Amino acid sequence: MTDLYARHKSVLPDWLALYYEDPLEITHGEGRHVWDSDGNRYLDFFGGILTTMTAHALPEVTKAVSEQAGRILHSSTLYLNRPMVELAERIAQLSGIPDARVFFTTSGTEANDTALLLATTYRRSNTILAMRNSYHGRSFSAVGITGNRGWSPTSLSPLQTLYVHGGVRTRGPYASLSDDDFIAACVDDLKDLLGHTRPPAALIAEPIQGVGGFTSGPDGLYAAFREVLAERGILWIADEVQTGWGRTGDHFWGWQAHGQSGPPDILTFAKGIGNGSSIGGVVARAEIMNCLDANSISTFGGTQITMAAGLANLNYLLEHDLQGNARRVGGLLIERLRAVAAQVPHVREVRGRGLMLGVELVKPGTDEADPDAASAVLEATRADGLLIGKGGGHNTSALRIAPPLSLTVAEAEEGAAILERALRSVTQ
Ligand code: PMP
Repeated sequence: MTDLYARHKSVLPDWLALYYEDPLEITHGEGRHVWDSDGNRYLDFFGGILTTMTAHALPEVTKAVSEQAGRILHSSTLYLNRPMVELAERIAQLSGIPDARVFFTTSGTEANDTALLLATTYRRSNTILAMRNSYHGRSFSAVGITGNRGWSPTSLSPLQTLYVHGGVRTRGPYASLSDDDFIAACVDDLKDLLGHTRPPAALIAEPIQGVGGFTSGPDGLYAAFREVLAERGILWIADEVQTGWGRTGDHFWGWQAHGQSGPPDILTFAKGIGNGSSIGGVVARAEIMNCLDANSISTFGGTQITMAAGLANLNYLLEHDLQGNARRVGGLLIERLRAVAAQVPHVREVRGRGLMLGVELVKPGTDEADPDAASAVLEATRADGLLIGKGGGHNTSALRIAPPLSLTVAEAEEGAAILERALRSVTQ
């Protein structure tokens, strides 16, 4: 055990989980690569759980942050904040939500907390619909709506949460149905649930479940839910913490795969927009955002330095069409991984879109999750110079691949080759 790891364990909580038997200390990065404290170089296919959106040490972001730090690090919601207004204007326009207002937080968890505060206040109801296998954070209220039991083993949340089917296409009671029938069955299930409960404030859902293993229902699922919800005045909250900013390639936001009935009532974001600096936020129509009778929520959120980072990062993303890059390079990567999967019996499924790809591992010839194989692949890829993630329900048997969106074709091929070696060696 390294000295730093021993000190970490002696002073930080046990539940602050670290990856790898010999945890990594990342000291610097560049582009799609990071280096550890022993000088080892890694191709980064996880971007610190999707926080490095564009690239490591992006000069444009570094410059914006250091210039702002050189001017002032002052943080307060009591005074006008130019970078906050500018970033809010950009995000309001990109959100697709009419008459949108943006409130910044420091994390996705707080963004979801705020969304719940808005929805429950607006609708005068503390009942929330959430998806099975979901993850929305671990604060008092966010953990109360997180369906993934591994992440919410106990919850004394003040919210009453009801869980809806549909976030996992290829498991569960409707797995064998066609897409249309799957959606119809989930809608029936939702209607049945609504017949048995007090009127909920909102349905919160990740368009593609992140921690749940990069899994989703068919395109159009949330549009079908929306019709049922809208008739009853129930709000739709899209948690775009992992799916936002063009990561899914086909769309800028994940909700757009379900956008037939328009944008969500509330959208939450975080992770990538700060490129590693902590920005979260909520977007909602003015009518919903302004239902709170309060002065503010926090002193922090939207600090000048993180807003400067976010603006520079967003500009880079849009100017270099990284959404298009995610679609193109992600398309090649998924094909390559599916070709490997066809030859490795441990792989049950390769799924996802853009640069958000999941590889689910099972015990060969069965449908039983294989978390040991997933951990072994994680270790083997690290030893071979590639960082990836894990996730997937309570059994953590999916590999998660979500590189910075500037990934090149050559890097995609290099990473796929390392993954192939790891899958073959571990699962032989
Ligand atoms: N929502 C989703 C979909 C997430 O994946 C996460 C983090 N993994 C969160 C919310 C919580 O965000 P944060 O960790 O920034 O608090």
